[in-house]
Amino acid sequence: MRILVVEDEKKVSRFIKKGLEQEGYAVDVAYDGMEGQQLIETHEYDCIILDIMLPKKSGIELLKDIKDRPGEPIVLLLTARDTVEDRVEGLNLGADDYLTKPFAFEELLARIRALLRRGSVTGAELKFADLSLDTQKRKAKRGDKEIELTLKEYSLLEYLLRNPDRVLSRTLIAEHVWDQSFDSETNVVDVYINHLRSKLDKGFTKKLIHTVRGVGYVLKEE
Ligand code: CA
Repeated sequence: MRILVVEDEKKVSRFIKKGLEQEGYAVDVAYDGMEGQQLIETHEYDCIILDIMLPKKSGIELLKDIKDRPGEPIVLLLTARDTVEDRVEGLNLGADDYLTKPFAFEELLARIRALLRRGSVTGAELKFADLSLDTQKRKAKRGDKEIELTLKEYSLLEYLLRNPDRVLSRTLIAEHVWDQSFDSETNVVDVYINHLRSKLDKGFTKKLIHTVRGVGYVLKEE
């Protein structure tokens, strides 16, 4: 899951970025509305955390741009106590939820998880063949075998499980699992796919992660 945080208060944006990264999300930060706009025009985000009061371009203006673009990122507004009208306008414009500042990180995390779950039909557990991933407890299982995953492996597997039977290019995978600092010249995606393979497919006759030569990877049952 890749998240964009648009918040000009550096202390707040850093705190959100750090916390979300510790939960395994890929996080980009923009410090004003124009920077936010550039990022949404060049990347595909799963979720956008959007402050309403922003320099250069307001969160409300930016929200209109977000809603005009293809793809439907979840939008969580950050509002100050005295901006009730903006909050209502934001929700009318299609924001999914809002959080009043100051807030505890746990609260933000709970909201984001709930919103991301709402978008999936499977709820807290993602399943494919005999593979399952509990997105609450962050535990994977293949058959009866419990599988320990690192944060990045977890994010990668979650992305694959949300897109079964779909050929995913390396670019698309990088776009959703890594942040802006990702270096497309490296083979990091292949390295992580190999880590997952050795944990998920090794020792099983039925392989689930398949290479599509020249393109990328697909999660499928043969
Ligand atoms: Ca602000």
